[in-house]
Amino acid sequence: MRCRGSLEIQKTNGQWGVHSTRTFTKGEIVISSNLKNNSKPTATSCAHSIQIGWSRHILMNLPARYLNHSCSPNVGVLGLNANGSYNFAALKDIGCKEELRFDYETTEFEIGAFTQCSCGSPNCRKTVHGYKYNSSIIRERYDAMNIASYLLNDYVSQSD
Ligand SMILES: [Zn+2]
Repeated sequence: MRCRGSLEIQKTNGQWGVHSTRTFTKGEIVISSNLKNNSKPTATSCAHSIQIGWSRHILMNLPARYLNHSCSPNVGVLGLNANGSYNFAALKDIGCKEELRFDYETTEFEIGAFTQCSCGSPNCRKTVHGYKYNSSIIRERYDAMNIASYLLNDYVSQSD
């Protein structure tokens, strides 16, 4: 088990995830991520990337890269930081030893690598294909500050 400050990376049921090792209060920044090995944004996504613009995908460093998806998450994106990567903030009070998860449809316009969700939350969408397909649900469920800004700023011109 590797520990980093107030978080730890754990493998549960064969899947890596990020878990809290202390409590966080709603609104607190939980992870300020950086780019993996100072990598540059790429035009195409991969299974481990996160989207920051219409054709810009980045690989975050650990532990952020191991954040799993939930349709009922406890953390959300909070805009890009000075590293050109995302900050993640607590969407609710988080206890110690909770897995931290965010909603992939708040950052990804279209998701290819991950589509079936079994997060187990009561409002699980079962299929997760990206903001393009669930934008109204996402905008209803999250404050604008917890949705990738490119999706909000440019969406009108991208939609038909
Ligand atoms: Zn789900």
